[in-house]
Amino acid sequence: MDFGIQGRYGLVCAASKGLGKAIAMSLAQEGVQLFLCARNAETLAAAAEEIRAVSPHPVKTMACDLSDAEDRERLIAAVKEAFGSLDILIHNVGGPPPSMAETTPLAAWERGFHQLFMSIVHLNQAFLPGMKEKRWGRIVNVTSLSVMEPVAGLAVSNGMRPAIAAMSKTLADEVAGYNITVNSVAPGIIHTARTEERIEAAIAQKGGTREAHLAEYVKSVPAGRLGTPEEFAAAVCFLCSQPASYITGSTLCVDGGKRRSAY
Ligand code: NAD
Repeated sequence: MDFGIQGRYGLVCAASKGLGKAIAMSLAQEGVQLFLCARNAETLAAAAEEIRAVSPHPVKTMACDLSDAEDRERLIAAVKEAFGSLDILIHNVGGPPPSMAETTPLAAWERGFHQLFMSIVHLNQAFLPGMKEKRWGRIVNVTSLSVMEPVAGLAVSNGMRPAIAAMSKTLADEVAGYNITVNSVAPGIIHTARTEERIEAAIAQKGGTREAHLAEYVKSVPAGRLGTPEEFAAAVCFLCSQPASYITGSTLCVDGGKRRSAY
């Protein structure tokens, strides 16, 4: 299938590791001209080097903390200077640390709100005028299965992800007439550094071995294994494609069947 996005301009957030890096790799292979950001300049530079090896275009980067409004403004200015406007906007950011709903400090709730929710609102408002002018755009949010099923011990993520899905559905309706689609992709358990961090947190809380916790995770997945970042990225890349033009306002689970609800 021809994805029809060669030469399009894309921004992939949190692209130095894990899901974001795999998405960037996948879009680069489709010929998208990329701008990448993440917090750590060194890991970002290393990821960009790998992505350049498969990209027909130069790959631009900027280190930035997406939870910080001033950093986001710097990023927006740099992307506009490099590309003028965007065609593809991939929202992704690190997940908030594990915590309980009852005891999560108010400051941590606020941090999570800025990191997960406001970062999306801010970048959407910055880049939508350019997409509307071109009458073409693809916005994809990396969220979580917790949109449908809250995950014990991830209070802030559970609180923010459904808000992202609802806000994105509202936006999808508003911009659908401009050939701009807005979708979310929800990972179940995809094996990344984040997964290993969650296992370490579980060992610290409940004891046990890495292998035992990994086996517990796998038991919850009908496919009988964790997903790979490449499998996740393929779904995101399809939603960015021309053939995906009639899919908007949706949340697509990439979870090996882990979600228990039918819808
Ligand atoms: P990861 O830890 O492997 O990578 C996180 C990336 O986010 C890194 O590139 C890091 O530099 C970047 N980042 C973190 N905080 C940032 C900030 N404030 N500003 C800019 N960049 C920042 O994580 P991952 O597994 O790739 O997960 C990506 C997202 O998907 C997270 O929000 C995570 O909670 C969510 N998620 C992942 C899974 C999974 O199975 N991997 C499941 C559910 C949800």
